[in-house]
Amino acid sequence: MAIPPQLACKLSDHAAAVQEFSNLAPGIPMTNQMLDDMLETLSLQIIWQVQSVFSPPVDGLVRIDVYFQIHEQKIGKAVTKYIRVGVGCWGGMDHPVISHGERDFQKRFEFDRQGLKQAICFAQEKAQNIRRRGFCEPCLKRESPEKRLRVGDTGVCALCLLHKAVF
Ligand SMILES: [Zn+2]
Repeated sequence: MAIPPQLACKLSDHAAAVQEFSNLAPGIPMTNQMLDDMLETLSLQIIWQVQSVFSPPVDGLVRIDVYFQIHEQKIGKAVTKYIRVGVGCWGGMDHPVISHGERDFQKRFEFDRQGLKQAICFAQEKAQNIRRRGFCEPCLKRESPEKRLRVGDTGVCALCLLHKAVF
Protein backbone atom coordinates (compact mmCIF):
# COMPACT_ATOMS: atom_id res chain seq x y z
CA MET A 1 0.00 0.00 0.00
CA ALA A 2 1.13 3.54 -0.65
CA ILE A 3 1.25 5.30 2.71
CA PRO A 4 -1.25 8.20 3.07
CA PRO A 5 0.16 11.71 2.42
CA GLN A 6 -0.63 12.92 5.99
CA LEU A 7 1.37 10.03 7.42
CA ALA A 8 4.20 10.57 4.96
CA CYS A 9 4.29 14.21 6.13
CA LYS A 10 4.53 13.23 9.81
CA LEU A 11 7.21 10.64 9.07
CA SER A 12 9.20 13.18 7.03
CA ASP A 13 12.67 11.67 6.46
CA HIS A 14 11.53 8.20 7.51
CA ALA A 15 8.64 8.04 5.02
CA ALA A 16 10.70 6.34 2.35
CA ALA A 17 11.89 3.63 4.76
CA VAL A 18 8.35 2.95 6.01
CA GLN A 19 7.07 2.81 2.43
CA GLU A 20 9.81 0.37 1.46
CA PHE A 21 8.85 -1.82 4.41
CA SER A 22 5.28 -2.20 3.16
CA ASN A 23 6.27 -2.67 -0.47
CA LEU A 24 5.84 -5.94 -2.31
CA ALA A 25 9.34 -5.64 -3.73
CA PRO A 26 11.89 -2.80 -3.78
CA GLY A 27 10.16 0.25 -5.28
CA ILE A 28 6.84 -1.60 -5.86
CA PRO A 29 4.02 -0.62 -3.46
CA MET A 30 1.46 -3.36 -2.85
CA THR A 31 -1.97 -2.41 -4.23
CA ASN A 32 -5.27 -4.28 -4.45
CA GLN A 33 -5.17 -4.01 -8.22
CA MET A 34 -1.75 -5.62 -8.26
CA LEU A 35 -2.83 -8.45 -5.96
CA ASP A 36 -5.98 -9.09 -8.04
CA ASP A 37 -3.96 -9.18 -11.27
CA MET A 38 -1.44 -11.55 -9.69
CA LEU A 39 -4.22 -13.86 -8.46
CA GLU A 40 -5.70 -13.94 -11.95
CA THR A 41 -2.40 -15.08 -13.46
CA LEU A 42 -1.59 -17.50 -10.62
CA SER A 43 -4.92 -19.29 -11.08
CA LEU A 44 -3.91 -20.28 -14.64
CA GLN A 45 -1.37 -22.84 -13.49
CA ILE A 46 -0.95 -25.31 -10.62
CA ILE A 47 2.71 -24.79 -9.79
CA TRP A 48 4.82 -21.63 -9.93
CA GLN A 49 8.47 -21.63 -9.02
CA VAL A 50 10.87 -18.77 -8.36
CA GLN A 51 14.51 -19.29 -7.51
CA SER A 52 17.75 -17.60 -6.70
CA VAL A 53 20.93 -19.33 -7.89
CA PHE A 54 24.29 -18.59 -6.27
CA SER A 55 27.24 -19.11 -8.55
CA PRO A 56 29.76 -19.46 -6.97
CA PRO A 57 27.97 -20.79 -3.86
CA VAL A 58 27.49 -18.34 -0.96
CA ASP A 59 28.06 -19.82 2.51
CA GLY A 60 27.60 -23.25 0.93
CA LEU A 61 24.26 -22.25 -0.60
CA VAL A 62 23.80 -23.11 -4.27
CA ARG A 63 20.15 -22.33 -4.69
CA ILE A 64 17.05 -21.21 -2.82
CA ASP A 65 13.76 -21.96 -4.50
CA VAL A 66 10.16 -21.28 -3.65
CA TYR A 67 7.06 -23.04 -4.95
CA PHE A 68 3.63 -21.45 -4.99
CA GLN A 69 1.10 -24.20 -5.59
CA ILE A 70 -2.51 -23.42 -6.37
CA HIS A 71 -4.81 -26.14 -5.06
CA GLU A 72 -8.53 -26.68 -5.23
CA GLN A 73 -10.46 -28.23 -2.41
CA LYS A 74 -13.98 -29.61 -2.69
CA ILE A 75 -16.13 -29.60 0.39
CA GLY A 76 -19.57 -30.79 -0.60
CA LYS A 77 -20.38 -28.81 -3.71
CA ALA A 78 -18.24 -25.83 -2.84
CA VAL A 79 -14.85 -25.56 -4.45
CA THR A 80 -12.31 -23.36 -2.70
CA LYS A 81 -8.84 -22.51 -3.86
CA TYR A 82 -5.82 -22.14 -1.66
CA ILE A 83 -2.14 -21.38 -2.03
CA ARG A 84 0.53 -23.68 -0.64
CA VAL A 85 3.98 -22.13 -0.34
CA GLY A 86 7.09 -24.26 0.05
CA VAL A 87 10.63 -22.96 0.48
CA GLY A 88 13.65 -25.15 -0.22
CA CYS A 89 17.39 -24.76 -0.48
CA TRP A 90 20.26 -26.62 -2.09
CA GLY A 91 23.90 -27.08 -1.10
CA GLY A 92 24.72 -29.05 -4.24
CA MET A 93 22.88 -30.34 -7.25
CA ASP A 94 22.20 -33.79 -5.78
CA HIS A 95 19.34 -33.27 -3.33
CA PRO A 96 17.82 -30.37 -1.44
CA VAL A 97 19.05 -29.62 2.09
CA ILE A 98 15.65 -28.26 2.97
CA SER A 99 12.87 -29.65 0.83
CA HIS A 100 9.61 -27.90 0.08
CA GLY A 101 7.59 -30.38 2.09
CA GLU A 102 9.41 -29.71 5.34
CA ARG A 103 7.08 -28.70 8.11
CA ASP A 104 8.48 -25.31 9.07
CA PHE A 105 9.14 -24.35 5.46
CA GLN A 106 5.71 -24.79 3.97
CA LYS A 107 2.36 -23.24 4.74
CA ARG A 108 -1.13 -22.93 3.34
CA PHE A 109 -2.91 -19.64 2.63
CA GLU A 110 -6.29 -18.53 1.34
CA PHE A 111 -6.52 -17.77 -2.36
CA ASP A 112 -7.39 -14.10 -1.96
CA ARG A 113 -5.65 -10.72 -1.57
CA GLN A 114 -4.88 -11.19 2.10
CA GLY A 115 -3.74 -14.79 1.57
CA LEU A 116 -1.46 -13.87 -1.31
CA LYS A 117 0.08 -11.06 0.75
CA GLN A 118 0.69 -13.46 3.64
CA ALA A 119 2.04 -16.13 1.26
CA ILE A 120 4.56 -13.69 -0.21
CA CYS A 121 5.61 -12.49 3.26
CA PHE A 122 6.06 -16.08 4.42
CA ALA A 123 8.22 -16.91 1.39
CA GLN A 124 10.28 -13.73 1.88
CA GLU A 125 10.84 -14.47 5.55
CA LYS A 126 11.90 -18.09 5.02
CA ALA A 127 14.12 -17.35 2.01
CA GLN A 128 15.82 -14.46 3.81
CA ASN A 129 16.30 -16.60 6.90
CA ILE A 130 18.13 -19.26 4.84
CA ARG A 131 20.17 -16.64 2.98
CA ARG A 132 21.17 -14.88 6.23
CA ARG A 133 22.21 -18.10 7.96
CA GLY A 134 24.03 -20.08 5.28
CA PHE A 135 25.58 -23.44 6.12
CA CYS A 136 27.86 -24.34 9.02
CA GLU A 137 31.45 -24.33 7.78
CA PRO A 138 32.95 -26.91 10.20
CA CYS A 139 30.19 -29.34 9.18
CA LEU A 140 30.78 -28.64 5.46
CA LYS A 141 34.50 -29.37 5.88
CA ARG A 142 34.02 -32.77 7.49
CA GLU A 143 35.09 -35.90 5.67
CA SER A 144 31.43 -36.68 5.04
CA PRO A 145 30.07 -33.12 4.80
CA GLU A 146 26.83 -32.21 6.48
CA LYS A 147 24.78 -29.20 5.50
CA ARG A 148 23.17 -27.49 8.42
CA LEU A 149 22.00 -23.90 8.76
CA ARG A 150 24.07 -21.71 11.09
CA VAL A 151 22.61 -20.30 14.26
CA GLY A 152 22.41 -16.51 14.58
CA ASP A 153 25.83 -14.89 14.33
CA THR A 154 27.71 -17.82 15.95
CA GLY A 155 29.04 -19.00 12.58
CA VAL A 156 28.12 -22.61 13.42
CA CYS A 157 25.05 -24.84 13.41
CA ALA A 158 22.95 -25.89 16.40
CA LEU A 159 24.80 -29.21 16.72
CA CYS A 160 28.29 -27.61 16.66
CA LEU A 161 27.04 -25.03 19.13
CA LEU A 162 25.81 -27.78 21.44
CA HIS A 163 29.21 -29.46 21.18
CA LYS A 164 30.95 -26.18 22.04
CA ALA A 165 28.59 -25.60 24.95
CA VAL A 166 29.00 -29.08 26.43
CA PHE A 167 32.78 -29.59 26.09
ZN1 LIG B 1 27.99 -27.60 12.37
